[in-house]
Amino acid sequence: MTGKILIADALATNRIVLKARLGAAFYEVVQAGTGAEAVAMARGARPDLLLLGGELPDMEVGALVVALADAICPAHMPPLVVVLAPRDATGQRIAALAGGASDVISKPVEPRFLLARLRALLRQRHLDADLGLPAATADALGFAEDPTAFRRPAQLAVLAASAARAHALRQRPAPMMPDITSSFAEDGPGAMAALRLGADAVLLEVGETNRATAPGLLAELQAAPSTRHARIVTLLEPAAADLAVQLLDMGASEVLHLPVDDRELALRLVAQVERKTRADALRGRLESGLQAAVIDPLTGLYNRRYGLSFLRRVLAQPDRSGGLCAVMVADLDHFKAVNDGFGHAAGDRVLAQVSARMRADLPSGAMIARLGGEEFVIVVPDTTPDAARALAGRICRRVREAPVALAGGADPVAVTVSIGVTLARPDPGAGAAQAEALLAEADRALYASKSGGRDTVTFCCRPAA
Ligand code: GH3
Ligand code: MG
Ligand code: MG
Repeated sequence: MTGKILIADALATNRIVLKARLGAAFYEVVQAGTGAEAVAMARGARPDLLLLGGELPDMEVGALVVALADAICPAHMPPLVVVLAPRDATGQRIAALAGGASDVISKPVEPRFLLARLRALLRQRHLDADLGLPAATADALGFAEDPTAFRRPAQLAVLAASAARAHALRQRPAPMMPDITSSFAEDGPGAMAALRLGADAVLLEVGETNRATAPGLLAELQAAPSTRHARIVTLLEPAAADLAVQLLDMGASEVLHLPVDDRELALRLVAQVERKTRADALRGRLESGLQAAVIDPLTGLYNRRYGLSFLRRVLAQPDRSGGLCAVMVADLDHFKAVNDGFGHAAGDRVLAQVSARMRADLPSGAMIARLGGEEFVIVVPDTTPDAARALAGRICRRVREAPVALAGGADPVAVTVSIGVTLARPDPGAGAAQAEALLAEADRALYASKSGGRDTVTFCCRPAA
């Protein structure tokens, strides 16, 4: 795992020990002795993670987290802050988590656990960076609303060796997590069934009886559609060091050692749920952003860019079946008159309705895109002249047959469409030129349909095949 780690500790000897440990694990390490030094270094060296070995003379953890975020330009993510604190320093641990630290790791540090934890945190950070566009890019794309604005109550599932134990575990932090509803179940064969409705986070307590099955359950949680993105927080006996490392390397979001303070547990669960909710929002936005890039918003059909790239891809494919590719250009007749007579909004409605009808008639594998205005391209791979003729004729008929109903009880509008068709055998050697040539041919055929009286289909005169 690569990564740059900034060690901040007032004591040089502590820094040296940590530096040796992290350097041996191939991390790039830089050091600071005060908060101010750490912030200055973060600005220049841009570390992925700041490891705070102990309390700093000039800055609390919360102030440090804020200063780091302010120091980094908004296009980059500020470093994660991880604090080393004694197991019994409850106040210090809670202040660090409440102040925005990503994790608190107990001192004295178990070296293998520390490295596994850092690996897991950095892996998650890389995933977050992939998913969350840097803020400046997100702004430019208009994706920058508050990702947590439409939040539903989060779901936490608690699993333990017995249902009673899971119930008890759930009760303790619950009052400190008012926005999280939780369910509980016995960790056993029925655990996955209990989770089929999904969860944002799973709290899994691993004890004597379920130690052997815990890695398998973690793998199952990560594979199941309902829990694939859930944050998994595990609670273990401190003696189970090998298992802790294994679970972290498998992708557990947190491995905590028992006993754990209730407030600390609540803070950690809330932070995990918030990260999960934010990641969901980013994923959703990425998906709708991708959709917006290929779909025409008025008609719901593919847009011109997608339509042309689809055509190029079909033509570039080696000819396996020997079928022809049909390219049709369809244009609504006298559409200007619809706008002039009924208004632009009615024109929009007609476009959307006619688009839906044309799409409904396509055979599987075919694609229709709006080229612009009232003009469409239909690509039918692996077809025959007869099938293409039948399809184009059917589209003309369907559009003609049923006038489009308008809002407000106005009389329906009769519309017709003219189509030009050409067919060719895909020629991977011709490159993009074949797509352009076929579109031009289909366009010429469309022109012939228009001058021949409209509401009709014309085939390109070039012999197919
Ligand atoms: P032809 O039969 O020769 O194709 O005649 P036409 O009137 O359909 O063709 P023309 O190119 O003269 O006019 C096309 C009209 O389509 C003009 C334009 O205002 C309208 N139009 C283009 N895009 C939209 C749109 O998104 N919504 C609406 N309502 N009208 C549009
Ligand atoms: Mg037209
Ligand atoms: Mg036109």
